[in-house]
Amino acid sequence: MKADPLLLEDKVCIVTGAASQRGIGRATARLFVQHGARAVVLDLDEDQARTATADLGEGNLGLACNVTDREACLNAAERVIGEFGRIDALINNAGITQPLKFMDIEPQNYDAVLDVNLRGTLYMSQAVVPQMRKQRSGSIVCMSSVSAQRGGGIFGGPHYSAAKGGVLGLGKAMARELGPDNVRVNSVTPGLIQTDITGGKLTGDLKAEIIKGIPLAGLGVADDVANACLFLASGLSSYITGAVIDVNGGMLIH
Ligand code: NAD
Repeated sequence: MKADPLLLEDKVCIVTGAASQRGIGRATARLFVQHGARAVVLDLDEDQARTATADLGEGNLGLACNVTDREACLNAAERVIGEFGRIDALINNAGITQPLKFMDIEPQNYDAVLDVNLRGTLYMSQAVVPQMRKQRSGSIVCMSSVSAQRGGGIFGGPHYSAAKGGVLGLGKAMARELGPDNVRVNSVTPGLIQTDITGGKLTGDLKAEIIKGIPLAGLGVADDVANACLFLASGLSSYITGAVIDVNGGMLIH
């Protein structure tokens, strides 16, 4: 019997914000490698990006790249093309959140959260699109959040909801514009996933309260989101663009 081909055999896949040990990006890079990909881990700190890459095994790349810095994004894309000759997938995963109330959002909070989540998605996508257009193939996945769909209320503040709502709009507009070049763009909207993004501020009581509203009766784990990214990065989703995939245990059924 013929073995199933690997879903991402020899595909070059960039994941931003993928150094964090328990994060969604790290889980995604790991899963992609298991499915045959060359993973490129981008994160703020070069050492952390390299450490994350070392865990993935040979043939992968770890680079420092602050996604809010356009030059850094362009340089990272250039390094990847120099090393591997192509870019098949980009997972715009880097993100930060802040649990602030509406009236407490200061200009620096707005800048920080909008810059990483939204500007970062724009800059990193702009950095890879010329190569994807040249190849006439590519898949971009944008990490939004259930916070964009329900108006926050779980952990991130209104500025985080706005940034993630912006990501959804940007992703759909990119899908429309890049479709004729066979570059697909889709978004993922995770619910509450157990990672370090909440910075230890998610108490047991709060967790129990949130779980009451989740039909699948539990919080998500990073691999739940990684699996959706695998589907969107691979040929399994070849006729899907401009879509939004919820990974939230049924927290928001609409
Ligand atoms: P995480 O904090 O574990 O990982 C985020 C990573 O992004 C970190 O490694 C961090 O260093 C990196 N990063 C931050 N700023 C960066 C920048 N300017 N340039 C490059 N890298 C940067 O968080 P996570 O929970 O794995 O979140 C991953 C993504 O999923 C984020 O976009 C987040 O908003 C989104 N998300 C998470 C949840 C959740 O419940 N965990 C829910 C919905 C959406």
